[in-house]
Amino acid sequence: MSIGIYIHVPFCIKKCPYCDFISYPLSGPTVKSYLESLVREINLYGSALADEDKIITSIFFGGGTPTTLPAASFKTVLNEVRSSFFLTEGCEVTVEANPGTVDGPGLAELRQAGVNRLSIGVQSFNDRLLGMLGRIHSAEQAARSVQLARKAGFDNLNLDFIFGIPGQTNHDWRETLHKAVEMAPEHIAAYGLQLEKGTPLAQAVERGEICTCPEETEIIMYRDAVAFLNGHGYSHYEISNFARPGIQCAHNLVYWLNQPYLGFGPAAHSFIRGVRFSNDISLAGYSDKLSREEYPVENKIRLSEADEMSETMFLGLRLSGGVDLNRFYRRFGRWAEDIYSYEIAGLCNKGLLEMSGGYLRLTTKGLPLANVVFREFV
Ligand code: SF4
Repeated sequence: MSIGIYIHVPFCIKKCPYCDFISYPLSGPTVKSYLESLVREINLYGSALADEDKIITSIFFGGGTPTTLPAASFKTVLNEVRSSFFLTEGCEVTVEANPGTVDGPGLAELRQAGVNRLSIGVQSFNDRLLGMLGRIHSAEQAARSVQLARKAGFDNLNLDFIFGIPGQTNHDWRETLHKAVEMAPEHIAAYGLQLEKGTPLAQAVERGEICTCPEETEIIMYRDAVAFLNGHGYSHYEISNFARPGIQCAHNLVYWLNQPYLGFGPAAHSFIRGVRFSNDISLAGYSDKLSREEYPVENKIRLSEADEMSETMFLGLRLSGGVDLNRFYRRFGRWAEDIYSYEIAGLCNKGLLEMSGGYLRLTTKGLPLANVVFREFV
């Protein structure tokens, strides 16, 4: 069984007003305690798991802002992973980078530590919109971080973008897309801004201080991104993700194919052998448990086979290729077409799904209504 490892780095220089991820302000002693705990957690799982559950095909440092950590700590952590698990040849190792927290020597150190993919949170090439998002970097810093990454030897770059930002026009979005393509990254992710309940941005919208981007504009932006990026050689392989041929994100494919993963760090989630569990979200609670050599787990649930089948369907439908029906049969010993015959027939009749070549996938009409389709499989 091959597995992806996610490592949550829960620190940010400054909280962005739209973000509800778990992150804490940066402080030297807290970072030190976090890194010690992380190493303990990696060792704990490395000692407990059977060899067949330790074959690792991807490692992803996400956050928070992983690039707030000292560059040398990636070498330490990756060496711990290498000594506790078995990394496959060409194992994808990604670090999420904030353009406000990178420099040339730090990126070179990451590359030398074995990081072979960088995911840069550009979000926009428009300074006014970066200000609206409360980002700590400018558009120029974002462009510079791409150059620095190339110079440091990264030949697999993802750039993350957000559309549907309050005050963003179609013209602004097209300018950002043009600039993105000029930078020639191997992979581009484009997400519509989500107003997460309780965040400062959502509260400002509720008070009427900020107007959200109209839904119709957001739909046009999404369609523009798909057409523009397809026209520039990026294959639209997942609802929000675009890649040069053969350079998809191996780690995210683990999630979309509903394969097992282990999450390390506070608030990280894991899914292995039919059990889903998540770590303590508080940094102190996470470190306390590990200092007593206990698993830092807060919630644990065994998924029923019906839950696993349902998740395999709605996660797989996120992929443009769709759900591989033979693979589904090999995994569950039953045909998806039999289990979901009613749902599939209804959605195919409405033109939202299509079945061909052994795959079930969203149609062009179904793509903007993906959430409606997914609900049918829950
Ligand atoms: S840098 Fe990323 S994780 Fe940190 S607050 Fe901003 S969006 Fe959230």
